[in-house]
Amino acid sequence: MKVSGEAHREGFCSAPASCVRTRPPTRGYVPELQFQTMSIQFRVESTMGAARAGRLLTPHGEIETPVFMPVGTLGSVKGVPQDVLEDLGVQILLGNTYHLYLRPGVERVRRLGGLHQFMSWPRAVLTDSGGFQVFSLSQLRKVTEEGVTFRSHLDGSSHFFSPESAMEAQIGLGADIIMAFDECTEYPAEPARVRESMEMTLRWGQRSKKYFAEHRHEVPWGRQSPAPSAQYGAKKVSSFEVQVSGKNHAINGKPENEGSAPAHVGAAGPGCPATQALFGIVQGGMDAKLRKESAERTVEIAFPGYAIGGLSVGEPRTVTREIVEATVEHLPSDQPRYLMGVGTPEEIAEYANLGIDMMDCVLPTRAARHGLLFTSEGKISIKQARYAGDDGPLDPNCACRVCTRYRRAYLRHLYASNEVLAQVLNTVHNLSFYLDTIGRVRHSIALGEKASFLSGVRSAPKP
Ligand SMILES: [Zn+2]
Repeated sequence: MKVSGEAHREGFCSAPASCVRTRPPTRGYVPELQFQTMSIQFRVESTMGAARAGRLLTPHGEIETPVFMPVGTLGSVKGVPQDVLEDLGVQILLGNTYHLYLRPGVERVRRLGGLHQFMSWPRAVLTDSGGFQVFSLSQLRKVTEEGVTFRSHLDGSSHFFSPESAMEAQIGLGADIIMAFDECTEYPAEPARVRESMEMTLRWGQRSKKYFAEHRHEVPWGRQSPAPSAQYGAKKVSSFEVQVSGKNHAINGKPENEGSAPAHVGAAGPGCPATQALFGIVQGGMDAKLRKESAERTVEIAFPGYAIGGLSVGEPRTVTREIVEATVEHLPSDQPRYLMGVGTPEEIAEYANLGIDMMDCVLPTRAARHGLLFTSEGKISIKQARYAGDDGPLDPNCACRVCTRYRRAYLRHLYASNEVLAQVLNTVHNLSFYLDTIGRVRHSIALGEKASFLSGVRSAPKP
């Protein structure tokens, strides 16, 4: 195998996991990908008990794990420009297929080169399958073996999602990591109902994989129009061009042609050898035995990564933790594990400690828009009158661009005056706090210091 030196340093090659990129993609520039031949590669670099720190290489950059993924529902983290997200160190964003399907529509995004090009985001993106959003529209949906009929929350129009159409939508959106279509089992639910739902998610997982295997070459990365990168002053980077000869490169320590998981492989499609990665989703409600069975049978289907779905749906947090712990031990140790839709800063530290690699949550961004801010001294509500004359920083231990520049009194004034800037600054701080938290967790795992990150995170209200 021959890999160019530039490409090797960038980490965008199909070499074994020893090939690591040392700097992020050039800011503002969404690189062309036609010379890449990979989907994802994952490497665990250090462990501490069940916790692990590692690296996940995607066609749009490297992610250090455990990672927190901010939610950009409609191709936007509400209130925060993409260049600020880059400065904050965001390595991967989450987009919601349900919302993007309704507006602006998958076909429009696809024709514009996919989500990365559309929103001018050069780093990695993950999309959900739309299943959870449809689940949350419980009054507006009908589930059958074939799929889910639902009504748009925007105009009441009728739509249908199936494993096949959810894959078609996610391939059109072009995220680096996409999710199998699943049914998020409601809570509480009778045991028979939980099993029935889990069985359907397994069947839907197989259908998702089959459709993806047949259509993944349709990802729009290879047919993008030139981005308006000149206005950012970014130059075209030839170092993304990777020259590879020969095959059978090892992924996760195994030859890529080995086993029954073609989704591991950066398959070549017409005009675009890079490909997305499809993750499976484990369900099984709050029953540890069903979770074990769901995990084992989902692993049998074989995906390059696995998500734990159906949690944070109203169950007590102690139950969430028990189910995460009961599920993780049945997932492969050499593949990424994604816990969907959690949690507070304390919880993301806790779940990373249980061996979770990827997490997302709307909490930091949604709470910020309501004036609820996570700090090293606990959660504060900036709307309170007691901050009206407070000349201190929002969080004296936070080095973010908000805490180093603005006072609590000003942030309180902005919020009380309903200024748009209040939502922007609050969101930037909360994201910073989450990213710092997960960064400390990662660092602690690497150093083997379990106690330091758990004691350093607080999200209880400030006394
Ligand atoms: Zn801050």
